[in-house]
Amino acid sequence: MLQVVWFKRDLRVEDHAPLSAALRAGRVLPLYIVEPEYWRLPDTSGRQWAFLRESLIELRAAFAARGGALIVRVGDAVDVLADLHARHGIAALHSHEETGNAWTFARDKRVAEFVRQRAIPWHETPQFGVVRRLADRDRWSAHFERFMARPIEPAPAQIARPANIDPGVVPEWTDFASGDDTCPGRQRGGRKAAVELLEGFYAGRGRAYAFEMSSPATAARSCSRLSAHLAAGTISMRETIRRAYAERAALAQMPCEARAVDLRSADALIARLHWHCHFIQKLESEPAIEFRAMHPAHAARTHAHNEVAFRAWRDGRTGFPFVDACIRMLAATGWINFRMRAMLTAFASYHLDLDWRATGAVLARRFVDYEPGIHWPQIQMQSGLTGINAPRIYNPAKQSTDQDPDGAFIRRWVPELADSPTAALHAPWLYFDGTPPNGYPARIVDHEAAARAARERLSAIRREAGYGDAAQRVYRKHGSRKRPIHNDDPGRRKQPPRDTRQLGFDLEN
Ligand SMILES: Cc1cc2nc3c(=O)[nH]c(=O)nc-3n(C[C@H](O)[C@H](O)[C@H](O)COP(=O)(O)OP(=O)(O)OC[C@H]3O[C@@H](n4cnc5c(N)ncnc54)[C@H](O)[C@@H]3O)c2cc1C
Repeated sequence: MLQVVWFKRDLRVEDHAPLSAALRAGRVLPLYIVEPEYWRLPDTSGRQWAFLRESLIELRAAFAARGGALIVRVGDAVDVLADLHARHGIAALHSHEETGNAWTFARDKRVAEFVRQRAIPWHETPQFGVVRRLADRDRWSAHFERFMARPIEPAPAQIARPANIDPGVVPEWTDFASGDDTCPGRQRGGRKAAVELLEGFYAGRGRAYAFEMSSPATAARSCSRLSAHLAAGTISMRETIRRAYAERAALAQMPCEARAVDLRSADALIARLHWHCHFIQKLESEPAIEFRAMHPAHAARTHAHNEVAFRAWRDGRTGFPFVDACIRMLAATGWINFRMRAMLTAFASYHLDLDWRATGAVLARRFVDYEPGIHWPQIQMQSGLTGINAPRIYNPAKQSTDQDPDGAFIRRWVPELADSPTAALHAPWLYFDGTPPNGYPARIVDHEAAARAARERLSAIRREAGYGDAAQRVYRKHGSRKRPIHNDDPGRRKQPPRDTRQLGFDLEN
């Protein structure tokens, strides 16, 4: 009988509690299941698989180096487990808890039913500071710190190879899915790349992270770039945050001029690693966030689909060069920085009045680091649907001059305007008499009028009876706080939602 370790989004042998527990219990079969149905969902993509595939190949090598073998199967998870059980007998199933999308949630329920019927114990272990069936957000931060302080599981030195079991191949995308997803600038998967990124950040790449994270021109180098690795689990959150705490403590002892990373940047990274789990907790506590606005008044609103605006936004042809440059960079590299993710979402939801579920799915499949628990709550937050965050309506022209003053970023990603004067890159509608050069489109909306209309739309909803009470309920469920009910989402509000500022707007002029 086998102790099956089901690898999901935890592709490492280091700090892997289910693997350690299985090894203590008996003969181990490490298993990864490629589920074609999952890879046909609108929020998944070939680029995500390509990253996972590289990570799996490295994981397989890590097992081989220890004498073991990672078993890979393609198919439905229940069918694969049923087959293994029939042939070899499964004594127990071990895995990390997963806060995935609705599909993986439903699949886990089917697996739970399968193991229950066969009396196979399924031991699920948390891998983040996320709590299943959390009763009360008030004590969440303390839980997070306790979880991160637990010992890091050492990688096992030896793992016996399961006898008479075909290891299977790690398939190519085209072996089980269709559709091209070219992403020439994609990050490489695998544990080695994750460790190098963390080392590089503290060796100096993250020196000015806190000051360079906002511009897409500097962020790609200065940010940690760990998101895809945290999503695939090639490095654990515990390893990452413990290293961040240790580096922060060491940096604080050094004179300023000797620091490879300034303290504000070290603190900024720690804050964001907390947000990672804080956001995933939202989806864990309310899986419907993937489909339904958190605040009921926003959930009640219906959208008329505007295919022209949707395509222009999706394809980077809105006529706002900075917006289009960001969309195109994301398409080509699978990554863009936080501020630009927020701007792209806000522009789609406010200026173009597009349905957040449709634009959120486009972004999800373009992100190599797609993490449903961060993604959907962020999409809602940046679309003004939570009721507990001040809506932020970014002015795309202001972002352009602030984040790309010399226009180098726009020239790179919008070659149609490469020879245009810098001022024209930020506001082509003021320069080209309605027809920009080289087939670049005229802007699809007057952004000032569109922002005003969005503000009026939102204000009308926020004036509805009972809006504040419903916002309080959202806050009680999802707001973060070190002390009971006094802080709100990280980096945003410091007051509960009844505070009048909560109902204000952050409208950039
Ligand atoms: C609309 C929208 C969608 C997003 N979707 C995702 C997603 O699918 N997957 C994802 O990992 N991040 C997502 N983010 C959060 C953030 O933009 C990315 O984590 C970050 O840009 C990744 O780059 P990095 O690893 O260099 O981050 P760094 O700035 O170096 O931060 C380190 C880590 O902290 C976490 N983190 C950083 N910012 C945030 C944040 N605002 N909220 C929660 N966690 C954060 C991530 O795990 C990140 O890897 C989204 C943000 C927005 C506005």
